[in-house]
Amino acid sequence: MKRAPNIDPALQAALSATQRRAHKPPSDALAFALALKLPDGKPYTLAGHEDLAAILQDTSRVVVVRKAAQKGVTELMLRLQFWLASQNYSSAYFLASRHYVRLQVQRRVEPLIAANKLLQQALAPEPETEEDETRIPSKYRLTDNITIKRLWGGYLIYMGLQSEADVRAYPLDAIYVDEVETLKPELTDALQERLYHSTLKWERWFSQPTAAGFGVDERFQLTDQQHMLFRCARCNHEFALEESFPHCLRSGNTLLSDLDLPAEPEAPRDNWTYCCPKCHTPFHPLASNWRWVAKYPSRPDAGYHLTQLYSATLSPSEVAQLYLNALRSPNRMERFHNSVLGLPYTGGDRQPIHPDKLLYHTFESPILNPQNPRYIGVDVGDTLHMVCLETRYITAIEQFTGATKWRDLMNRILALQPKAVAINAMPYKDSAKDLLRELKKHHIGGAIIYDAGDESKPTIGYEDEEFGEPIRRISYPRTELMDGTVSALLRGEILLPPKHKPSTALLIKHLMNYITERDEQGRRRYARGREDHLGRALDYARIIAQHAYTLQLAAPNYGDPNTWLVKDAVVDAQPL
Ligand SMILES: [Zn+2]
Repeated sequence: MKRAPNIDPALQAALSATQRRAHKPPSDALAFALALKLPDGKPYTLAGHEDLAAILQDTSRVVVVRKAAQKGVTELMLRLQFWLASQNYSSAYFLASRHYVRLQVQRRVEPLIAANKLLQQALAPEPETEEDETRIPSKYRLTDNITIKRLWGGYLIYMGLQSEADVRAYPLDAIYVDEVETLKPELTDALQERLYHSTLKWERWFSQPTAAGFGVDERFQLTDQQHMLFRCARCNHEFALEESFPHCLRSGNTLLSDLDLPAEPEAPRDNWTYCCPKCHTPFHPLASNWRWVAKYPSRPDAGYHLTQLYSATLSPSEVAQLYLNALRSPNRMERFHNSVLGLPYTGGDRQPIHPDKLLYHTFESPILNPQNPRYIGVDVGDTLHMVCLETRYITAIEQFTGATKWRDLMNRILALQPKAVAINAMPYKDSAKDLLRELKKHHIGGAIIYDAGDESKPTIGYEDEEFGEPIRRISYPRTELMDGTVSALLRGEILLPPKHKPSTALLIKHLMNYITERDEQGRRRYARGREDHLGRALDYARIIAQHAYTLQLAAPNYGDPNTWLVKDAVVDAQPL
């Protein structure tokens, strides 16, 4: 637990006067940040941003800031980076593109240096001739994707993070990563490798969140998770505003949480005030006592949640109005959560699956009616993920690991007696083909399934025809396939097994990793490299259920359980 420091304006003035005389950087990060004037020459203060002082003073190796919009974190991190240089450490500030690097350096970094003698005097001169340039190690040479400054004994690097090559070139003591949400996960992992040689190894990640378990929220979840807690003067209840929302706003006798219908005609427009979520006593966050409290105090990495709710620039009535407008549109609600509360949002366009939006059946058995058609999808990796679909019902969700996993999967499929199986074979294509050939001997049809590019059309065909043992192949555009499963789930066309089962929870977890993003060309797609395997297995089960009959992987059944087995005659005419 950390107390909010009181920053005395007199101390601040004295500090900057001392700095003017001595041109020596303060050794304390907070004093250093306060000593640097704003680009317009005015003093930098944390008035209205008192919550930021703890972040400036936090010396944890990893600090993650999950934040609402406009919290002044960028300005703070720039100052912290200059302070590190004054301590002779080199660090890099990563942004999503070179465009943002240029904006940042021209609009924030260079004006900050220009406004502060302390920084100007510490700045190593820019190389103007070939000879000068040789003094900078070649690995620090400028390219158009990167800007480098040297102050005191440290390099400050500003870099657009677009490829792994960008990441690999520089050994660093600290990394600052802005807008974590827009960066590719494989690149952010590579960043950490740049720190191996350093004794400091600082990581500072900060961003508005988007989806739960994604980007900055994924990193925040691993930290000690500090929230600003207020204490009610009347009932002593301690609470975080963002976590009590919308129970912490009232206008007269109306609580914001009572207004859960869009465009409530009697919704008050004005006179909203924050209140204790328990006893509803009004209070003013900026004039109240608060403290940072960690949910997991024993964790070494620090996480701070910053919301707009106690901000000096957004009044309680404005917050209430934004929320009431958002009730009419999921997109607005998503934005309200991300930029005002600073919280991730589930159930919007970005992360469409939310457990409360799904339908569940109550059957425990993996076979509901032996006469129903069953279809199985398998996603292959080091673990084999299997989902069985019987008409509208998901009846089995299973994983297979270890040396006998293929044999175990085979036996399980034989026990479930599906009409057909679809396997996404990569990266173990041979084992997948062996399984399909073995299943065929037991009159169970199947196909190998591939994710195709989004611009292509679904295709069907054969593999290994030339060897006389052809295997059915389906290729399906990835985004369309995953969209189809998401909408089938949200429309209630597919029902999940009972919610209390751990395997159901695991499938939901994987489906919540269906998170949309934009590719380089701005096209919508689902983020890759997420833990989504059971969701993918459901994709394949669904697609084989839809197409098994047209593909003649399985004869029509509905009735006699024996008729849906693939007959030898059919197999001969349409080799599997
Ligand atoms: Zn209270």
